[in-house]
Amino acid sequence: MGAIVAIVGRPNVGKSTFFNRLIKRREAIVDEVSGVTRDRHYGKSDWNGKEFSVIDTGGYVVGSDDIFEKEIDKQVELAIDEADAIIFMVDVESGVTGMDEDVAKLLRKVDKPVFLTVNKVDNTQRVADAVEFYSLGLGEYYTVSSINGSGTGELLDALVEVL
Ligand code: GDP
Ligand code: MG
Repeated sequence: MGAIVAIVGRPNVGKSTFFNRLIKRREAIVDEVSGVTRDRHYGKSDWNGKEFSVIDTGGYVVGSDDIFEKEIDKQVELAIDEADAIIFMVDVESGVTGMDEDVAKLLRKVDKPVFLTVNKVDNTQRVADAVEFYSLGLGEYYTVSSINGSGTGELLDALVEVL
């Protein structure tokens, strides 16, 4: 199958928007996990001549907030197992949330490349706002706008280096 990149993060940070920007052709919607989570999307992408598969995790979740958080953890753990590299997406509009901190805690233990990616950096003013994400303890981060595409080239350059 080649290298696999998973996009993880709490809901509404822009994972699917970024995924749709990355992939060229959508593959079948697969992997109905436990009837709770649907639409775990797989797609194919390439950058600088390197092909890779992308997983968009944590689609549609039904249930209480409690199940919700557990489900995100499960998606992250699945992604950790399956992926060769992980894009951990967060949202500059909301800033750091408790759920981001929970996911970061899981990812800090992981022995695979993690690309902390601050999304919704649609303009230069927002670049400065992104510094708060250092507090997640994952080191350097990338800033992107999944809507207008800015910053995505730098992220993908670094990403394909490790695949
Ligand atoms: P997901 O739940 O993480 O998959 O997030 P979605 O991709 O569904 O996006 C959630 C919301 O954020 C949608 O309303 C998107 O249009 C919006 N969004 C995604 N990326 C960006 C971005 O780069 N900038 C802005 N301003 N909004 C974005
Ligand atoms: Mg989504």
